[in-house]
Amino acid sequence: MASPNQARLDLAALRHNLALARRLAPRSQAMAVIKANAYGHGMLTVAQALDPLVDAMAVACLEEALALRASGVVAPILLLEGVFEPGELVAAAQQDLWVTIHDERQLQWLEGASLARPLRCWLKLDTGMHRLGVTPGRAGEFYRRLRACPNARGDIVLSTHFACADEPGSELTRSQLALFDTACRGLAGERSAANSAAVLAWPDSHYDWIRPGYMLYGNSPLPGEHPGARGLRPVMTLASAVIAVRDVAPGETVGYGAAWTATRPSRIATVCIGYGDGYPRLAPNGTPVLVNGRRAGLAGRVSMDMITLDVTELPRVEPGDEVILWGEGLPVGEVAAHAGTIGYELTTRMPARTPRVVVQP
Ligand SMILES: *Cc1c(COP(=O)(O)O)cnc(C)c1O
Repeated sequence: MASPNQARLDLAALRHNLALARRLAPRSQAMAVIKANAYGHGMLTVAQALDPLVDAMAVACLEEALALRASGVVAPILLLEGVFEPGELVAAAQQDLWVTIHDERQLQWLEGASLARPLRCWLKLDTGMHRLGVTPGRAGEFYRRLRACPNARGDIVLSTHFACADEPGSELTRSQLALFDTACRGLAGERSAANSAAVLAWPDSHYDWIRPGYMLYGNSPLPGEHPGARGLRPVMTLASAVIAVRDVAPGETVGYGAAWTATRPSRIATVCIGYGDGYPRLAPNGTPVLVNGRRAGLAGRVSMDMITLDVTELPRVEPGDEVILWGEGLPVGEVAAHAGTIGYELTTRMPARTPRVVVQP
């Protein structure tokens, strides 16, 4: 029998989550962020499902954008970090990509280029994230140079990015919004600021373009329950199966480093998925896992190809029984919190070894 490991993809959920984002920001255009292989879900699969539904897509680099164009995606595509060297502008123009301009160097490349047609530019302002972007005091100067540049289209977008939109009531987000408004004053053009957290929790940030990523995949970046996030449906469900079951006596240990010790007569189920399949090695004892739809806890260290679960409290568990590591019924963010990371990282790190299987087209 083939390996039971699958990252199951529900594309109906993907479309549902996009519709939810649009309902939350009804006056904004929607740019789907599908960088990093669509957060591990499979960029081309996701892009083909979203192409007719979104106003644009966003990726991190030219290579990702070219792969999208090669697969037939026609939606506008924004390079979120712009180009990394001037030669990429030529390819961007040929493939009709949109580019971020976040600093003097990129603007000079654009001013000095010879392009087949002008590019739509997203002028990125640094309002407090301090990672990329033009300082707000120079927004007007950059804007005017873009306006004067024959390689830039006239319809410049002003954008910024939040550091703490996932923190309800964050002072920094408030300050970023105020700085953005001030910096954009008097500059004609569309504006964009909202990532998923801001789409869900900061309606003042929606402007003309929202840029959701994580929420499209059905996950909430916000802590706890949030009314906006309640309707999200997970796109990826990571599934495996039990391949062995055994009884372990009190005092016996399980797995590498003997990191789990039975304190009672225990039943241990071994599942054929490990860190080589995208399950986080740092997930500790007790991390929740679904076996036949019921919660069990990790017992012992995560191996490369296997994990072990304490199923003592569950009704009879047998080899072949279905195991869900995250997804439907178990949010990836909850598993990630046990492992000291975020759901973004777990889905994005999913290796090619684990097949993506579209179960809901
Ligand atoms: C990745 C990214 C997003 C999407 O963020 P989510 O938290 O996944 O919604 C939006 N904007 C920029 C600039 C990004 O880099």
